[in-house]
Amino acid sequence: MSLLVVGSLAFDDLETPFGSSKNTLGGSATYIALAASFFIDEIHMVGVVGEDFGEDNLNLFRERNIDLGGVKVVPNGKTFRWAGRYHYDMNTRDTIETQLNVLADFDAVIPHQYQQAKYVCLGNIDPVLQKKVLSQVSRPKLVVCDTMNFWIEGKPKELQETLQLVDVFIINDSEARLLAKEPNLIKCARLIREMGPKTLIIKKGEHGALLFTDNGVFSAPAYPLEFIYDPTGAGDTFAGGFTGYLAKVGEINEMTLRKAVLYGSTMASFCVERFGAERLFELSPLEITDRYQSFLELSRIEE
Ligand code: AMP
Repeated sequence: MSLLVVGSLAFDDLETPFGSSKNTLGGSATYIALAASFFIDEIHMVGVVGEDFGEDNLNLFRERNIDLGGVKVVPNGKTFRWAGRYHYDMNTRDTIETQLNVLADFDAVIPHQYQQAKYVCLGNIDPVLQKKVLSQVSRPKLVVCDTMNFWIEGKPKELQETLQLVDVFIINDSEARLLAKEPNLIKCARLIREMGPKTLIIKKGEHGALLFTDNGVFSAPAYPLEFIYDPTGAGDTFAGGFTGYLAKVGEINEMTLRKAVLYGSTMASFCVERFGAERLFELSPLEITDRYQSFLELSRIEE
């Protein structure tokens, strides 16, 4: 099964209570594609970088079999940059700076050969571009979409239009409250599902994730890690693991959606163990299987 990933490729400056890291490879498409590459081997990435991104960074994707035919390198351009700072509890972060750079003129043209992709994962970029992507692909089996407060606050109308075309929407708890203008998460879920996506996932950081479908709600725990180094990219990594797993099994039903949430959580739990995407580059399939099993054990009881 082929997966089309569209999103940002970035250099991030990150600060957590445990240290800092500058010019770290990041961006929504980066984390999504890397996480999904552990599940499927046909991933097409569409995005934009500046010349400063460098061949070395592009090769990191190629080494994981991620096709970069849709990644445009803008001559003399500067790659998108984001700087964020996490606080003591790591659940809250401040955006220090967003420099759109080449992302400001990104026009999200999907090369002809990717327009038949069966799975589409829209990383966090301008909702206008997310909608434009969907207008170019023909009948995907599943469209998964992520966003963040930057767009919920900046382009609320445009985001609503995109949401009408999305099957699975992934959002964190504070973003859900912001979007639905409602403090109660269960009410938020109802209101957001009324905006379009039949399936909604609300991530609650170290408190796990909730999956809302027509069948009700499923609650997945977060992996109890003693040491969280840097939460950046956890949400995108979740989306990549989630979509990658569904593309691998090729079937979408209540049970595969639930398993996909656990695989997404598994991948996110690795991501936060090191700065940026570092951990995803040294991850083995066996570690994923083991941690997935631990996830199952976390809330298993015998009656
Ligand atoms: P996450 O921690 O999963 O929300 O994702 C963090 C990643 O999102 C970072 O690597 C950033 O480069 C990227 N990012 C932050 N702000 C934006 C934005 N406005 N548009 C696109 N990507 C962004």
